[in-house]
Amino acid sequence: VKANGRNQFRFYDDGLRSQREHELEMISDLREALRSDQFVVFYQPRYSVQENRIVGVEALIRWRHPEHGLVAPGHFIPVAESSGLIGQIGEYVLREALRQNAEWRKQGIELEMSVNVSLRQLRSPDFPRLVSKILRQYGCPPASLELELTETALFEDDAVIHANLKALRTEGVRIAIDDFGTGYSNLARLSEVSVDCIKLDRSLIQDFARNRPILRMVIAMCKFMEVTIVAEGVETRDMAAWTAEHGCHELQGYYFSKPVPACEILPLLDQTFSTAADQMSATYVI
Ligand code: C2E
Ligand code: MG
Ligand code: MG
Ligand code: MG
Repeated sequence: VKANGRNQFRFYDDGLRSQREHELEMISDLREALRSDQFVVFYQPRYSVQENRIVGVEALIRWRHPEHGLVAPGHFIPVAESSGLIGQIGEYVLREALRQNAEWRKQGIELEMSVNVSLRQLRSPDFPRLVSKILRQYGCPPASLELELTETALFEDDAVIHANLKALRTEGVRIAIDDFGTGYSNLARLSEVSVDCIKLDRSLIQDFARNRPILRMVIAMCKFMEVTIVAEGVETRDMAAWTAEHGCHELQGYYFSKPVPACEILPLLDQTFSTAADQMSATYVI
């Protein structure tokens, strides 16, 4: 969660030491977390409007900290990125998510798996090879994997990043732009990059009453690009109805489910969700 960024050292801040000291302590704890398996992956369902069912999940890391309990990624991903540990942490998430995907597959459950990838991971020349190795190891089809990147990663003028994106897409892995509409979206650059999916940031969705004109325009543009449009942060039936009605293909958010451990995904697959416009509250205006 972006708002947590400021508090990333909250657990480590005793008010006596410098920020650098907190950071160093967290880095050593993150190393220990990798060694002793303290990271876990939660999953949040992605609901398809057309199919009226859950068709995929997003893998979201958590840190089961021995003293602080379950720590959200906003508290430690920035430090993982700046320290370089994101390489190993990101590899863990990719491996665990595809292992889980293969386990579901064995049970006859096919779900598309989305995994968040940091700019730093994408900058590694070995990244596409690592991804194909893990896909092969678990026997997952490349098209079952989607990698979520932020606009900053996609618009970076970096030859390795461009080559990596090309290699991944050639293999059949899907690429998504995460948190679209938050930064200074460069609409001109958007037509230069090839992506399969655009995820509209939850700040746009949650204030949809005010953002309607922007949302309409962005959705129209995404349709033109023929990408899958995902609405993030759908919390209410009204948000679900409006985004479904206005052309978002997939919806994700607390209205359907919070991110949950893998074992809690299965019961959600049989659940029905209402996103019909006639179910919207009376105060709702299209
Ligand atoms: P994201 O990729 O945009 O993930 C969506 C975030 O929004 C998740 O927060 C999710 O719990 C939250 N969310 C989903 N639906 C709703 C809703 O209806 N309302 C509200 N208020 N929030 C909702 P989470 O799990 O704390 O993750 C935060 C961010 O941390 C992610 O944002 C992603 O950028 C990053 N992250 C998570 N896992 C990984 C990972 O494995 N690798 C990397 N590099 N980053 C990760
Ligand atoms: Mg994401
Ligand atoms: Mg997002
Ligand atoms: Mg994000």
